[in-house]
Amino acid sequence: MEDIEEGIQKKLKILSAISRIHQSVGADLDLQKVSDDLVKELKNILGCTGCAILLIDDNNVKIASNIGFSNMFSGKKISADMPAIKYIKEKKRSIKTGDIAHSDFSECIPTGCSMNSLICSPILVNTEVKGIIHIDSLNKNAFDEDDLLFVELLSKEVANVIQRTQLFTKTKELSQRDELTGCFNRRKMEQDLKDEASRASRYNNSFTILMIDCDWFKKYNDYHGHQKGDELLKKLVSLIKRNIRSVDKIYRYGGEEFLILLPMAQKEQGQTLGERLRELVEREDFEGEQESQPEKKVTISIGIANFPQDSKDIISLIKAADSALYSAKEGGRNRVVLYQKN
Ligand code: GH3
Ligand code: MG
Ligand code: MG
Repeated sequence: MEDIEEGIQKKLKILSAISRIHQSVGADLDLQKVSDDLVKELKNILGCTGCAILLIDDNNVKIASNIGFSNMFSGKKISADMPAIKYIKEKKRSIKTGDIAHSDFSECIPTGCSMNSLICSPILVNTEVKGIIHIDSLNKNAFDEDDLLFVELLSKEVANVIQRTQLFTKTKELSQRDELTGCFNRRKMEQDLKDEASRASRYNNSFTILMIDCDWFKKYNDYHGHQKGDELLKKLVSLIKRNIRSVDKIYRYGGEEFLILLPMAQKEQGQTLGERLRELVEREDFEGEQESQPEKKVTISIGIANFPQDSKDIISLIKAADSALYSAKEGGRNRVVLYQKN
């Protein structure tokens, strides 16, 4: 009689925890906070010895949050090769055992540790195992089917948060990019230039910007059509991207105009890069260029300005690069010009 009552009490406790957790997780995007909250609930409701939420990215395993778990594994690296993790990644199914030493997962027990019961449940995002909820106990047969169900439900909550976070990151990323070329867009450029300017001011650094414009692009478009023009822009961007440092960023400023930001770079470094890019474009073969382009080839002109040398104000800095670009066009195109104050 007492056992039945205890069982009902526990079921009620689990049910109310699930409803509470579901509400608190709600539309949360903070995976760390959700993980911290959930391990507390697990510890509290299931009375386990150790519990943890592990996140798996390819073959890297990271402990997102834990109580009494990391100390048990101290000194031993948790890897995707561990039998329990390998099993879950492959089978996408939970593990539940009340006697680990005599199970297929005996190798998982860290030396000197006397845990006996274990539940590990996969956190599945689009059928991919993105993490594991782990609970263990020193007692044998410590967990029942209701406990397993509880852990599996929490895994779904974590999966939802991961999915939402991924979607949010993807949406944010898309909102910063130009659809055609994949370059960052103007909104992102304005933000980045502001950030770079405050960083450069704070640390007494400088940065350089290159304003790039495709020469006689209208002629290419008019002759070959808008679609071929689009393809040229994509090819141009991909060529530039392959030839800048990973810290440099390229933005689509307008139609066939691009801005490159070179953090921590003097004007001369900008000039060297500008000259290299100009040459690369000149040498590259573009479909139909002989027919449509005045010089029989697609070329670019570049204007360069430096922060703080030419201006400490972002708008005037862009204007400076733009006016250098104008001089490059005036000077005959297919050239690089450094901004110079009159
Ligand atoms: P300049 O050497 O002086 O720069 O001459 P240009 O012909 O390149 O300059 P202009 O500004 O006269 O022409 C730019 C052309 O770029 C006009 C516009 O139709 C085209 N354009 C702008 N955005 C896009 C785009 O996304 N795709 C395509 N295909 N063309 C575009
Ligand atoms: Mg142009
Ligand atoms: Mg233009």
